Formats: sequence, C-alpha cells, structure tokens
Amino acid sequence: MQWKGRRQSGNIEDRRGMGGGRIAIGGGIGTVIIVLIGLFLGGGLGYIFGESGSLIPTATTSAGAAGANDEMSQFIAVVLADAEDFWTQQFKDMGRTYSPPRLVLFTDSVQTGSGLATSATGPFYSPTDKKIFIDLSFYDELRTRFGASGDFAQAYVIAHEVGHAVQDQLGILDQVDAEQRQVDKQTANELSVRLELQADFFAGLWAHYASSIGVVQPGDIEEALNAANSIGDDRIQQQSQGRVVPDSFTHGTSAQRVKWFQLGYTTGDIDQGDTFSMPYSQL
Ligand SMILES: [Zn+2]
Repeated sequence: MQWKGRRQSGNIEDRRGMGGGRIAIGGGIGTVIIVLIGLFLGGGLGYIFGESGSLIPTATTSAGAAGANDEMSQFIAVVLADAEDFWTQQFKDMGRTYSPPRLVLFTDSVQTGSGLATSATGPFYSPTDKKIFIDLSFYDELRTRFGASGDFAQAYVIAHEVGHAVQDQLGILDQVDAEQRQVDKQTANELSVRLELQADFFAGLWAHYASSIGVVQPGDIEEALNAANSIGDDRIQQQSQGRVVPDSFTHGTSAQRVKWFQLGYTTGDIDQGDTFSMPYSQL
C-alpha cells in the first residue's frame, strides 16, 4: 500500500507502555470473562459488546501523548484516515453524518469502558467507548500463527474493526445484540457470523475506495484475501482443536470471509452487503 507522506488521522490514542491500570480486588473474574470472549470470537478480530457494567470498574487512565512516531503507528494512522474519508462520504451519500471512531494503541492490557482487556483479546471495537483497540503485537501473531503478512493484511484488520464502528452507527450492533439475547446459542452464533461477514464486506468496500484513489499496489489485495482466508473459523478450529464445529462459528468460514471481502472490493456498493436477510446457508 502506498501510504508514506499521506494524511494521518488524528484519532489515534497512544497508550502503549502505560498498562491497563490496577486490577481491582475481585476484578479477576471480569478479566477472565473478557479474555475468554475474545478467544471465543476467534481470529482475534472480534469486537466486544454487551458486557457494559458487568466488568471491572475502570480506574481512569489518562490518554497518552499523541504523536507516536514509529512507522507502524504512522501506517495505521494513514489507513484510519482513508477509512474516515471513505465512510464520511458514504454516510453523506446516505444522508447521514459519520462520527469517526478513535483508535487506541496499547500494549499488554488496556482499560475500556467495559473493563480491562488484554492483548489476548486481539483487536476489537468497543461500542461503549466508540473506539477501536489494538495491541500491535497482534500483527506478529497474524504473521506467525496465521501466516498472513503484508501491510494490506494489516490494513484489513483495521478496516474490519472500522466496519464494526459503522455497524454501530447504523444501529446494526444494537439490533443484533437485542436479538441475540432472545435466541438460543446457535442462532446467536449465526447472527454473529452475519455481523462479522458484513464487517469483512465493509473492509472490502474500503479496499475498493483505496484502489480508486490509487494507493493499492500489486499484491495488496492478495494479502487481504490471504488474511481473510487464514482467520476463518473452520481454519482456526482445525488448526487449534483438530476438528471443525460449524454450530460454534462466530466469524464465518475462510471461504465466506474471502467471499464477502471480495464482494465489497469488487462492487464498491454498500447495498450489496446485506448479510442479514439472506438464508444462512447462502452466506
Ligand atoms: Zn469482527
């Protein structure tokens, strides 16, 4: 991806090296819960929502000084800026106003409005904070554990999480959350898959936009597709437990993740991304 010298988003909070603050006595359970949810979501690309108020009361952590100057954070700031430009225009076209989410860089653990999260959670979007959280060490894991390398694979992760922020602003997260509370586990998982595939589709829309402004380089799209392919639920389950349990899928198969990213990328048409009204078997 061609990114050097381009606009960087100012919506980055650098909390690296600050730690997540003190864990309150009795807060251990909450920590465990939030970590388990992250693992359960699989692939490290989950977002956390719905636990508001049930976790550790947060000790206020002041935001870090802005202006991280390392290459990786600069790259992410450019990706976020592209996403801001893209979604601002998309929302405008829909007669709405986009509120760009902030992105928090952290190491090891971080306080969110829903409690303490650790790096084990993977990158996530918090609807409580309206922020994306990422420990950049996830990219090492993406490369070594999932075999997905390249800057566009890294950009895809950000674009996917921005996709959750978009879903939040469109009211989709709230709707799905409400539905999930009323259905059985398997149906709730299916709703999660629909949500995640739509976030992949939204990431594809972003890639379409990046292509249209000429910043996509040869091999970039393949990097994103390879990343989507490497973090499918079937692939991860096969890798980690040696078998695949479709009822427990929360993000979709490798093939589905590739398919929806690609659909967004090739069409650039948000109307193609309704993952909720078609039969589950046709996703
Ligand atoms: Zn996700």
